[in-house]
Amino acid sequence: MIRLKNVSKIYGSGAQAIEALRHIDLEVPQGSIHGVIGLSGAGKSTLIRCVNLLERPTSGSVQVDGQELTRLSGPALNQARHQIGMIFQHFNLLSSRTVYANIALPLELMGMGKAAIQERVKPLLELTGLSDKTGTYPAELSGGQKQRVAIARALASRPKVLLCDEATSALDPQTTGSILELLKDINERLGLTILLITHEMEVVKSICHRVGLISDGMLVEEAEVGEFFTSP
Ligand code: ADP
Ligand code: ADP
Repeated sequence: MIRLKNVSKIYGSGAQAIEALRHIDLEVPQGSIHGVIGLSGAGKSTLIRCVNLLERPTSGSVQVDGQELTRLSGPALNQARHQIGMIFQHFNLLSSRTVYANIALPLELMGMGKAAIQERVKPLLELTGLSDKTGTYPAELSGGQKQRVAIARALASRPKVLLCDEATSALDPQTTGSILELLKDINERLGLTILLITHEMEVVKSICHRVGLISDGMLVEEAEVGEFFTSP
């Protein structure tokens, strides 16, 4: 579902150049939960942002569901991005919009009508346990609730892939657990492919099928989760 081939990313140029990703090969099969773990500055954020071209790789190939994204730009890239949802450490909700209006936003931007939007949003509110919060503003929500809104918003365009950028790093352990349960549920019920980056071992252990270790811009190790943590 996600295939990165020989992806490199260099920020800046000349003496200031930073090689954030070096020759990354990554394959995430449909329906799996794949984690990439690494220290701060290792390249995790850059890697996940290259998957939906929030960062454009300096070289290499990025395919999602068989489509080469690096050849796309403008409206064609926006169209392709409907297949790729993303959630962030700090939720990135719009504070001036209610829970409902945050979730509806991507659908409004796609030009969908009010009735169709309502039909999409309602089951997402149920799935994420937010049915009684539709008129609430983000400032009145807990961190876990905010991330649930962000998850519902990410799912609104019915993506095939969900990218999670340190999605639980701002949450306490108990809330982290409940968000991870929700992601697992979404993976199982919707067959959604999930790629997540984290610096937390526990996150990887509790929901990932496979895990890769990134260090200094290189994927240095990759294995099934059980194997990864028992290897000497
Ligand atoms: P991580 O997510 O693992 O903390 P990042 O992908 O954010 O790692 O960063 C990898 C390297 O690239 C770091 O050295 C970081 O300072 C650098 N970097 C990240 N984004 C930029 C940018 N927009 N411009 C210049 N350097 C960047
Ligand atoms: P995150 O919480 O997503 O890891 P960061 O605080 O690492 O975010 O980075 C925030 C933004 O700043 C990102 O868009 C990242 O690409 C950019 N960035 C990170 N490191 C650098 C850097 N050394 N120079 C310029 N921009 C950077």
